[in-house]
Amino acid sequence: MDVNTEKFKTEALKALNDSTSRSFLDFFLPVLSMVRDLGLSSFPDPVAAVEKARAIRHNAVSRLGDLLETFEKNAIKLGTKVYWARDAEDANAYIMDLIRTNKVPYVTKGKSMISEEIGLNAALEKNGVPVFETDLGEFIIQLLEKPPFHIIGPAINIPPQDICDVFMAKAGMKNPTTNPVELGYAARLFLRDKFKHMRMGITGVNMVVAENGTIINVENEGNIRFNKSAPDIQVSVMSLEKIVPTMEDAFHMLRMLCRNGTGQKLSAYVTMDRGPKKDNDIDGPRELHLVILDNGRSRIYENPRTREVLQCIRCGACINICPVFRHIGGYPYGWAYTGPIGKLLNPLFLGLDRTSDLFGACTLCGACKKVCPAGIDHPEMILYFREMNMAGNRMLKGKGSRLSQKIIATCAAMAASHPGIWHRGTACGRAMIRRLGPVGQALLSWTRHRDLPPLPETSFRDRVKPD
Ligand code: SF4
Repeated sequence: MDVNTEKFKTEALKALNDSTSRSFLDFFLPVLSMVRDLGLSSFPDPVAAVEKARAIRHNAVSRLGDLLETFEKNAIKLGTKVYWARDAEDANAYIMDLIRTNKVPYVTKGKSMISEEIGLNAALEKNGVPVFETDLGEFIIQLLEKPPFHIIGPAINIPPQDICDVFMAKAGMKNPTTNPVELGYAARLFLRDKFKHMRMGITGVNMVVAENGTIINVENEGNIRFNKSAPDIQVSVMSLEKIVPTMEDAFHMLRMLCRNGTGQKLSAYVTMDRGPKKDNDIDGPRELHLVILDNGRSRIYENPRTREVLQCIRCGACINICPVFRHIGGYPYGWAYTGPIGKLLNPLFLGLDRTSDLFGACTLCGACKKVCPAGIDHPEMILYFREMNMAGNRMLKGKGSRLSQKIIATCAAMAASHPGIWHRGTACGRAMIRRLGPVGQALLSWTRHRDLPPLPETSFRDRVKPD
């Protein structure tokens, strides 16, 4: 997947001026947040349920090394072939090798953010292997050659007419329609044929269970189950933090993931695999490969200030509530992850220097932290990134501050520690802004997309000062 994080400001501006996308975001994201709240309210004690989920994720990440070792042993016992991939290139090369060795003509894929992260489709297609996305949303964006808009609904923003046009042009649909059921049927007809002759299916992983080597996926369409049960060879790709210690933990996290993602108590399909097909099994793959991807996560783990991000379960709740995402949608983030979690993961994977506009565009309102079932403190980490970026931190590839920024920061620090200078400075600032008037204000970039109400002549403090 191309990295376009440096175009954040330009793309955000485009999105702000796109009225169709704005009305969609205004309507849809509050609905998603509302169904999440409804879903959570079905727990006897929602607060305790969230606290339990946070404790499970914290516990899992703090014991990550041990849990992964236990999981690996149990998965191998069940016949799963485990491969530890250092980075994206390593993971893609392993999968490509399997394809070559087994002379696989094409692969089908279930929805997976990790494959976006490693650029799997591009890597396979470069080697002449066609890839067919089988999740409806992913299938649509693959045909449209667009990146995912939302972690849960990659094509949620695409108008039905655009889907109709691309299905007619690239998926063999004969009669034009904008009826969602008919569009879904057209995609099914096209993909069923691919499923029928498939040799290899690739999926992501929602979680694995250390105590018994189980691999778990959730979905609503059934295509992941097809990808896991129908082919000869199945490849699951997981990021190394997607682990829980026990089945009991897994059941609780499943309840939380589904409620926080789509408001469902449980998704339509939950698939649990324990190794490849056994002699008396009706279906299942002859070979089951699990690629466990590091791709910089060990480095993230080593730093106690960033480790917490590995607790994420990719539910998308923080995205739906974020005021910035609600204005600009997913495209400006420029890489695999969007919204508040994208503001944490993209900088850690790509470097602060390439992503400073992402974590710069945060109001620190804390709505994301409040809803997060994994207990991640997004604002705290964003502040840390800003500090490290200014300090030019080498590990995180911080840019360092410019001379002008250093001067402003020194002056602000001096004013903040001397009340006399501070009060005189703010009074001057107020007078200057009042003098600018509406025309001057319109020239300020800060007010281009925000209202600046007229300032009163005196400050609140001046008004309440005792005579
Ligand atoms: S950061 Fe929290 S709320 Fe956001 S996707 Fe991850 S688990 Fe969900």
